Amino acid sequence: MLTKVIEQAKIDRFAKWVERFDRFVIVAHVSPDGDAIGSSLGLWHFFNVLGRRAHVIVPNAFPNFLKWMPGSKDILIYDRYRDFADRLIFEADVICCVDFNTLHRIDEMGPAVASSPARKMMLDHHLYPEDFCHITMSYPKVSSTSELVFRLLCRMGYFDDIVKEAAECIYTGMMTDTGGFTYNSNDREIYFIISELLSKGIDKDAIYRKVYNTYSESRLRLMGSILSNMVVYADSNAALITLTKAEQEQFHYVKGDSEGFVNIPLSIKNVRFSCFLREDTEKPMIKVSLRSEGKFPCNQMAEEFFHGGGHLNASGGELFGTMDEAKVVLERALEKYKPLLLEADE
Ligand code: 5GP
Ligand code: MN
Repeated sequence: MLTKVIEQAKIDRFAKWVERFDRFVIVAHVSPDGDAIGSSLGLWHFFNVLGRRAHVIVPNAFPNFLKWMPGSKDILIYDRYRDFADRLIFEADVICCVDFNTLHRIDEMGPAVASSPARKMMLDHHLYPEDFCHITMSYPKVSSTSELVFRLLCRMGYFDDIVKEAAECIYTGMMTDTGGFTYNSNDREIYFIISELLSKGIDKDAIYRKVYNTYSESRLRLMGSILSNMVVYADSNAALITLTKAEQEQFHYVKGDSEGFVNIPLSIKNVRFSCFLREDTEKPMIKVSLRSEGKFPCNQMAEEFFHGGGHLNASGGELFGTMDEAKVVLERALEKYKPLLLEADE
């Protein structure tokens, strides 16, 4: 049995929408990751089984390692099909906002979703949800939105309508948002849910291979280059890796190639915090990714120094400026957070 994470009144209200309405639009955050795509497609398969008209719309492209996912070819990319997407968003009966907490996280789609007369629901696990939905289901303690999709469908009484394809998508999101069940993954109910997904016929080992073992040779060489330039701040238990525009060109970088790099420095003994700075190819901007082990609050640092936010152990943000400027900001942040970084978790 699963704990009832989502409040009954919200389940009942959304279940009525599912019964009564036909046109569902599912939207997820910019630069969609495995959980954004997994939770969106998990819901999409469900609506299809029920015979509803459903569309997944995301602001921009998603990485190649997610393109095997059933239904991924039907995902509408907003920055390519804007007019069509705007019409779907405007004419929808229901918009499901998954895996994001503020309209800012869907970039250019924000105004379209905000002004649509559709009923809106949020299903998410990021802190501080913005109040723009009629039903806000926000549970930061849950490690993935995909897990929440499973919980929502089951609580509405639709377990039997979760088909294998939906289960594959849900599993993918649960797996990617926990680094293959290596962080945020001590809740035993996660494994109960996996067991239920296995009962739908998913091959979890094959999913792992499809997500993590289908990269290009140049991606691995890029990893080698990045790691050879890594800086370890031994006196702060921290490490920094960077990716410049020049390196992106040299190694034929494509979207998704640096996925997971930020976690690698955490494999060094005593390194409890890792920062990855990536130069943007279009804007004069540095994308920041932060990861930590234990109780160190990445989200606090992301908010304070990098105009961002996120989860305790995985956060991000951005800085306008050069790579050198970003390094200076990081070093200032490390100076401030050094006492916390040196504090041992019990
Ligand atoms: P990643 O490092 O994988 O890009 O992001 C990790 C987590 O940090 C995301 O799941 C999201 O919660 C948060 N995050 C990443 N970038 C941003 C950002 O620019 N702003 C905010 N508020 N959160 C971000
Ligand atoms: Mn997520």
